[in-house]
Amino acid sequence: MSARILVVDDIETNRRLLEARLSAEYFEVVEAADGLSAIEAARAHEPDLILLDIMMPGMDGFETCRRLKADPALRHIPVVMVTALDQREHRIKGLEAGADEFLTKPVDDVALFARVRSLLRLKVVMDELRLRESETEVESDALTLGGRIVVASTDGAAGQRIVDMFEAPFQARLTCEPLETLRHARTADLVVIDLTTARFDGLRLAARIRSDAETRQTPILGIVDSDDRAAMVRALDLGVTDVILRPLDPGEMQARARTQVRRKAYADALRDRLEESLEMAVTDALTGLHNRRYVVSRLRQNLDALERSGEAFAVALIDIDHFKRINDSWGHQAGDAVLKGFADRLRRELRAIDIAGRYGGEEFLILFAGADADDALEASERFRAAMAREPFQAPGSGEPVAVTVSAGITVGEAGDDVEDVIARADAALYEAKSSGRNQVIAWRRRAA
Ligand SMILES: [Mg+2]
Repeated sequence: MSARILVVDDIETNRRLLEARLSAEYFEVVEAADGLSAIEAARAHEPDLILLDIMMPGMDGFETCRRLKADPALRHIPVVMVTALDQREHRIKGLEAGADEFLTKPVDDVALFARVRSLLRLKVVMDELRLRESETEVESDALTLGGRIVVASTDGAAGQRIVDMFEAPFQARLTCEPLETLRHARTADLVVIDLTTARFDGLRLAARIRSDAETRQTPILGIVDSDDRAAMVRALDLGVTDVILRPLDPGEMQARARTQVRRKAYADALRDRLEESLEMAVTDALTGLHNRRYVVSRLRQNLDALERSGEAFAVALIDIDHFKRINDSWGHQAGDAVLKGFADRLRRELRAIDIAGRYGGEEFLILFAGADADDALEASERFRAAMAREPFQAPGSGEPVAVTVSAGITVGEAGDDVEDVIARADAALYEAKSSGRNQVIAWRRRAA
């Protein structure tokens, strides 16, 4: 996986050292010597990851990190803090500043690349979401957010000690069986797996959580022994999101959990917005009316409301008469102009609560809320007359193009599905067409 990495350190030798090792792994490296130029470089180069020194003159790493994470344009970039001292306070302070990870100088290659790979994998997912969601900004200010935490350990006493490290607003629960863990993971914000317990394949459990569709996005914090570097690397490669080393420190445990929960809340919010924006993609590009998918989904809602509380509604299926002839004699541009003009007039004639959508090429579906067949007939007739009264003008020549419409009306009936309603409206429309066009006809049940 190639990526651009911003290396921030006030000492040139340190930068050169990291640069050499990262370049050897085919990472592209950008450098900055202090906090302010790091923020500038982050804006200019859009790195995939930032390696940030803590001790720097002027703005230190903590403050730099805080500023990066406060900037909506930069906060998604993972930050790894590089500290000379493996100090607990530094780690916690860094996590509170929004750092995603820590490395202790001198930086160990294996640890460095395992962390980098794991964070880059995560960033690929986040970028994908952000890309589709480029317009809206998602608040990730969830510092006060609690979270449901599932602790997995086969050692009951050790597991309970881990559970006890979490204070409110976290809610932690201990699970000692993998199936139990998997079940609770589905509603959890974080799963903590003790990878140090004997006769317990925590890595297999982590892989299961990663592969289950319902828990794929759930962060996993793995507990490993500080001297077991191989376990750490394997865990990160298998999709464990973060690793904490024994001996465990409750402050660090809470801080790491908070980071993971915050990140999940951010990703969830992005995902929700994405779904929302897909839902919003409901407009027909040419006419500006709703599209077919949307108008059909509203029709389905109307049927549900009818079923639930007897709310009546009527629909009209309206078709432009001889539309093909308009296209053939005046060209497609004229056809498009007629469709647009049709939509404008329709918008003028309809009530605010009526829903109009382009159902097919020159076919439109109107939903009249709370209306019976007579209401819909009257409204559609008014619209039909308005269309027939005033011709459109052909684009370019300005010559008048006479356009008439036909419409079929029906009302929603108990037990209908969408297809039933459309079929009746379509039958009435067919009747309007076959008996001369330029008219509105309501569907009537015929004796067989
Ligand atoms: Mg320094």
